[in-house]
Amino acid sequence: MSEAKELKTGICKYCGQVQNVTVLGDDPELLNEAATEACTCEGAQKIKRKKAREKKVSEFLSKNFDYPEDEQFIRDAIDVVELWDGGIKAVTVEMDDGWKHKITLKDLDLVISSTKTDKKELKP
Ligand SMILES: [Zn+2]
Repeated sequence: MSEAKELKTGICKYCGQVQNVTVLGDDPELLNEAATEACTCEGAQKIKRKKAREKKVSEFLSKNFDYPEDEQFIRDAIDVVELWDGGIKAVTVEMDDGWKHKITLKDLDLVISSTKTDKKELKP
């Protein structure tokens, strides 16, 4: 049996546009997945950017955070910003070691700005 790829159609999950795709097999899930990949609509672009971001984010987190739980705090904050994209402008995570990490989504790019202030609170 030939394994040659033939042109098929799938439907973009975001806008419903039909796209020509080349996929092995007839699994509609795979066809739609490929169609979404190929689509240029806003929803598909967003998910593409998110996927591309994920690797960079993982590398950034493992390089900059010593503890898995700290990494998880940032990941959770990223999830909130991504989930409420547009509704929530930024999430700030304040660690108990004095670091503040502000997570913002700017034009589909994730920005994490970290600051540490040695603030003294004086209590008489
Ligand atoms: Zn689309």
